[in-house]
Amino acid sequence: MINADQALQILMEGNKRFMAAKPLYPNLTPKRRKELSKGQQPFAIIFGCVDSRVPPELVFDRGLGDLFVIRTAGQALDGAALCSIEFGVEKFNIPLVMVLGHEKCGAVSATIEVVEKKAVAHGQINTLVEIIKPAVDKVMGQPGDLLENSVRANIQLTVDKLKASPFLSKYLYKGKIKIVGARYDLNTGVVDIIMP
Ligand SMILES: [Zn+2]
Repeated sequence: MINADQALQILMEGNKRFMAAKPLYPNLTPKRRKELSKGQQPFAIIFGCVDSRVPPELVFDRGLGDLFVIRTAGQALDGAALCSIEFGVEKFNIPLVMVLGHEKCGAVSATIEVVEKKAVAHGQINTLVEIIKPAVDKVMGQPGDLLENSVRANIQLTVDKLKASPFLSKYLYKGKIKIVGARYDLNTGVVDIIMP
């Protein structure tokens, strides 16, 4: 069993390979596939955005059975997402939970539009806006780029929400898991840990 720091190190090493266009594509062999039919032991939970440019297995150069991935637009944390993360922690003793936001997130940008125009979003997108809005509200009027500031605030608030979950906080308290916030850069491919 590896711990959270080791899990984070494996992710960061994989990201370096991805960034340098030197991926190893580990754990994608037929042998690995066969082994995994007996069971899985993923080492990290990645809660990320649905954006097609940020696929966790590729960004971290990992293969089958490595990552337990939950993705929603703007990594908006709803009940199903939270429950899935808790399930991963409880069922597989996964030591690391990473909230992975990214540069120029479309869901965050859509939320900003709604907030700035004080408009009501149409249909289901309103669900997303309601979840992401506190991040936009938090940084509104601050110096710098509103979208970038909101992306960062959204990652931070999501980490805070996870840490406040009664279920996850028990694991945190016992030192069994770590929850970190990270930002992916679309141009360079770098994942930065902004909340260690
Ligand atoms: Zn996004």
